[in-house]
Amino acid sequence: MAILMNGKEVAQSLRRDLAKEVSNLRERGIEVTLAVVLVGSDPASEVYVRNKHKACLEAGIRSLQITLPEATTEERLLSEVEKLNADPKINGILVQLPLPKHIDEKKITEAILPIKDVDAFHPENVGRITLGTPRFLPCTPAGIMDLLAFYGVNAEGRRCVVVGRSNIVGKPISSLLLAANGTVTTCHSRTKDLPSVTREADILVVAVGKPKMLTADMVKPGAVVIDVGIHRGEDGKLCGDVDFASVEPIASYITPVPGGVGPMTIAELLANTLRAAKYQNNL
Ligand code: NDP
Repeated sequence: MAILMNGKEVAQSLRRDLAKEVSNLRERGIEVTLAVVLVGSDPASEVYVRNKHKACLEAGIRSLQITLPEATTEERLLSEVEKLNADPKINGILVQLPLPKHIDEKKITEAILPIKDVDAFHPENVGRITLGTPRFLPCTPAGIMDLLAFYGVNAEGRRCVVVGRSNIVGKPISSLLLAANGTVTTCHSRTKDLPSVTREADILVVAVGKPKMLTADMVKPGAVVIDVGIHRGEDGKLCGDVDFASVEPIASYITPVPGGVGPMTIAELLANTLRAAKYQNNL
């Protein structure tokens, strides 16, 4: 039986700590503020934005939501980002992805001022992670590292296997595990004989976006298993990329879905917004 890595609880304690810091800054006249831009009405994005707004309010962070219609042009969105970049009262800017097809996401991501880029998607922030001088860490990988730290799981010298190489999860978590002195292998859809690679992992991070794909025969007994995936099953229940029922009995630690990596992601967004406010005020 594995120990459950309770992201909900760890995230709550992180949020309590940062709420204290936010309140200290307010006493010094600094109102920590996040601007979230949503274009269109994708239902999943609307839920994410609503949750982020709620989490900000709970932590005492001012949350400004800018909702633009689906037909918004790239120029209009760029000018909105420019306005937020220039506004000294705005500490963090997040443009909710995905954007409508007619807008170039790369252009928008690159338009956000790197010191306000709380998602850490700007090439400057991505480069800093690779160089080992990060300013902000992307929220999901940061949440995974904090969860590992909370449970005393040290990557140093251990075999770490990441399944998935997306820019928002797979690549950055591979970099962070490497920076933590793990020996890291990153797998993807062209990896040959995936189970033979995943079975070598002491720490296994799964971000493939395929429900219950990672089964017990792909896991070394005693491995630490981090499940990033989130899916709504046919039974209406949430599940991850890991087949929890078969893997949990053989893992040493495992993140549940829901209540594992997901809650950490939002807490890290708040932490990045606080960090941004401190940078911008030379604190
Ligand atoms: P992407 O779809 O961007 O990336 C999936 C990756 O998995 C790709 O690199 C792909 O390889 C690889 N892959 C797909 N199929 C296989 C396979 N059969 N064998 C090996 N590798 C494979 O996903 P994301 O990284 O954005 O997200 C992954 C999951 O995590 C999703 O379920 C998403 O909803 C969830 N998520 C959860 C978050 C949270 O806060 N809990 C935050 C972000 C994401 P290739 O590059 O070759 O195509």
